[in-house]
Amino acid sequence: MTILVGTLSIAITLAWGGFLRDMHEVTLSRQLAQTAADAAALAAVAEAAPYGVGAPAAQAREYAEANGAHLLSCDCEAGAVGAQVEVSYRGVVAQARAAYDPRRLQPLPTAATQGVHPALAEAVGALVRASEGAVYVVSGYRPPQRQAELWKQALAKYGSPEVADDWVAPPGRSMHERGLAVDLGGDTGLAARLVADLGLPLYRPLPHEPWHFELVGTRRTP
Ligand SMILES: [Zn+2]
Repeated sequence: MTILVGTLSIAITLAWGGFLRDMHEVTLSRQLAQTAADAAALAAVAEAAPYGVGAPAAQAREYAEANGAHLLSCDCEAGAVGAQVEVSYRGVVAQARAAYDPRRLQPLPTAATQGVHPALAEAVGALVRASEGAVYVVSGYRPPQRQAELWKQALAKYGSPEVADDWVAPPGRSMHERGLAVDLGGDTGLAARLVADLGLPLYRPLPHEPWHFELVGTRRTP
């Protein structure tokens, strides 16, 4: 800010045309300094978050420099929920602060719900977010090969197809293979309450599998 005022007072002594040009340059430098600061702060806080590798200052420096600025300071620690940086761009100093709400940073069900029906993925995503970490996706889409493996394990464990069938669907008969089921972990009671509270199109068709949720209307009743 001090530097900016200094530049302005010099600019005023210049001829009118030069004044305008310098004003433009000052404004531009200010904007670019702020952009560099914003980028550095965002990079730092992303790096500080659980998915970073824990080097927020290095990330802040890299992003400041990628925007042509120098990092003057970075108040950023690994694991912190906020980061504050100060950068200098052509003598113009800018600051920025970035923060995140850790409650919104629950593992998104994106990877776990890959391959499942989009409507199911959407409903499960809403449920997981609303649970604020108490509910998560354990299993979603299962390729037929994986279902065959599970069936083999169940056969070995329960001894007969009749009993194994109560726990694992034989290959070709699982709703998971069709991308129409997810198994949830954590507080499945809360999951059921959230389904009702949020009016989500999910239900639990298997009484002995309270973690298994499907989209309403996709299972044909025998
Ligand atoms: Zn299941």
